[in-house]
Amino acid sequence: MLLGDHGEFKECLTRDAKGILSLYEAAHMGTTTDYILDEALTFTLNNLESLSCTCKPNLSRLIRNSLDLPQHKNMEILVAEEFIRWYKEQDFHSKLAPYYRDILVELDLHTLTYLEPKLSRVSIFLTKFYTMQIILDDTCDRYASFREVEILVDIFGRWDLEDHAMDGLPDYLKSVVKFVFGTFQEFEREIGSELGGLYSLEVTIEYFKIYMRSNLQLAKWASVDHLPSFEEYLDVAGIEIAVVFTLACVLMAMENICKEEAYEWLKSREKLVRAMTTKARVPNDMFGYEDDMSRGYLTGSVNCYKKQYGVSEEEAFRKLRQLTAEIDKMMDEELLKPINVPRQVLKVVMIDTLRAINVAYDKRDGFNRRDGHLKNITSM
Ligand SMILES: [Mg+2]
Repeated sequence: MLLGDHGEFKECLTRDAKGILSLYEAAHMGTTTDYILDEALTFTLNNLESLSCTCKPNLSRLIRNSLDLPQHKNMEILVAEEFIRWYKEQDFHSKLAPYYRDILVELDLHTLTYLEPKLSRVSIFLTKFYTMQIILDDTCDRYASFREVEILVDIFGRWDLEDHAMDGLPDYLKSVVKFVFGTFQEFEREIGSELGGLYSLEVTIEYFKIYMRSNLQLAKWASVDHLPSFEEYLDVAGIEIAVVFTLACVLMAMENICKEEAYEWLKSREKLVRAMTTKARVPNDMFGYEDDMSRGYLTGSVNCYKKQYGVSEEEAFRKLRQLTAEIDKMMDEELLKPINVPRQVLKVVMIDTLRAINVAYDKRDGFNRRDGHLKNITSM
């Protein structure tokens, strides 16, 4: 299949960068009599350099690394490390000190919920996505002033890469804005030429803007110690925990699915999505309650519930635990309802994401307690 009538490698192969790279790697595994692999090596070498300049960024990086030293000859740990180079290049430590949390290992664990090789792009996108989301969360919740959060949300609302409002920002916030725009540009380079690619990017950006507005609303309430009703709080803080935004990103990254159909389906499962957000939001608030109270941050599930129902702290905790247990049953019921997307989309977007939420939040607050459960899992 690879060879033409005269035993030459077919010209059409040169349009398949991934295939040429695989053939190049295979050509390094020949014995003394595998002459065809010598020819394959010459053929692939003649094409890989130019292909690396025209293909998608992630693939281009793999080609350059492989040209430097093929995977077969390289140390496995160094090959694996190529996939976290992106992270090191961002240099967050110097740009976002002092509030930046380096929790790449914990974030990476959650991308492993999408385990199948054909979902590798979902894992790659979500590593970038989670990194972005944690930085924005800490920026809005813990470091930036309320006015700075307002400016940040306005800039992202206009979505103009040349926005002059950026000029007046402190350096650390300029870095945040550049990183967010840069990350979405990387997504665009990866999916822009695919069927439905730009559509899914635009939809995900809209979800991002909604996510940022929820950050502002929460910051506004927190700045004056306002306690809305428990339901009103969940409306906003459920968005702010970024589950919906995550689901939008998973759909954007998935390959070979009908994007329009998938996003319509996501919108139609509002009850299920809200249940998932509550499963993350409420335990996150309960586990973080002491820390939040110690820094004077009152606007959370426990205090909103206490105020609305006039109950003690102890009773609020008991009721909220009961609520999350009931949500599990309701979600099981929802997941059994007929679906109008391929079963794999339901499995990946809802069930796998829910499993990651359970690992992080079911009995512990994994992201905020670094010496806890997630550390044990990641060191296994
Ligand atoms: Mg937050």
